[in-house]
Amino acid sequence: MIDLHLHSNASDGTDDPAEVVRRAAAAGVTTLALTDHDTTAGWDEAARAVPAGVTLVRGAEFSTTAPDGRGGEVSAHLLGYLFDPAHPAVKADQERLRGERGRRIGVMTERLRADGYDVDPAAIAARTGAPVGRPHLGRALVEIGAVSSVPEAFESFLAKGGKYYEPKADTPIAEAVAMIRAAGGVAVWAHPWARTRGDVIEPEVIADLAGRGLAGVEVDHPDHVAADRDRLRALARDLDLVVTGSSDYHGGNKETPIAAETTAPDQLEALVARATGADVVTGGP
Ligand code: AMP
Ligand code: ZN
Ligand code: FE
Ligand code: FE
Repeated sequence: MIDLHLHSNASDGTDDPAEVVRRAAAAGVTTLALTDHDTTAGWDEAARAVPAGVTLVRGAEFSTTAPDGRGGEVSAHLLGYLFDPAHPAVKADQERLRGERGRRIGVMTERLRADGYDVDPAAIAARTGAPVGRPHLGRALVEIGAVSSVPEAFESFLAKGGKYYEPKADTPIAEAVAMIRAAGGVAVWAHPWARTRGDVIEPEVIADLAGRGLAGVEVDHPDHVAADRDRLRALARDLDLVVTGSSDYHGGNKETPIAAETTAPDQLEALVARATGADVVTGGP
């Protein structure tokens, strides 16, 4: 079983990177990818935890903005795999995005406080340097008893378009693809049709990016309905893109279990074959 999109507490998951690896192995996963938002901070710990018989693909999920194909822009997530984490452009972009995340969560925290929700800015700011996300604020809302779960916090407080939402300045997706490739990595568009999170792109946008170095699309994702999966799979076939499937596991911050969605072995091979920036880590003696 291959699951190519998991988060640890190096970003907005709840398990340590080593714990993510252990849980994936226990769930029967043979290859997993650690893809924290805008950071590679969990890579070393995860690599040390890989048991015999398991392969770790190190990656990250980049915060990007994409043309929607209708004249506007939408937020988009881009998975980068097996890139060189020391590449200057990648490092600079991830640092900028983490700073931007801190600013935006600060703004959202103040808006909540102004309405009497006593979320503690110090507890969130203590994570300075780590990529803070809305799930962290969701946890804080659970802790003060405003909601009973992080998904509920999204529904009531954190969703895009809501009263407390503040956008962040993400990286244009074509630039992010170029940067990942320059660092020897491969780029896969994460959950392009996750419609519950907001407006999504037209298929032509994927076609355009395929011509600029995009390697694949995440087709099987918990936020994709069946009809969209079928259309995406057909589009990927036409464009000769790799097709992936993944759980987007976030520990206790989301309900989806590890390996809820999976990737076919030949698709993983196609991705790994194109990468030169970092090696996969295989456990065992
Ligand atoms: P941010 O990166 O700060 O904008 O937060 C987005 C993160 O929140 C993504 O990793 C999503 O997986 C997560 N997320 C989005 N919607 C929900 C939801 N309804 N429940 C839990 N997590 C969510
Ligand atoms: Zn996340
Ligand atoms: Fe995402
Ligand atoms: Fe994710």
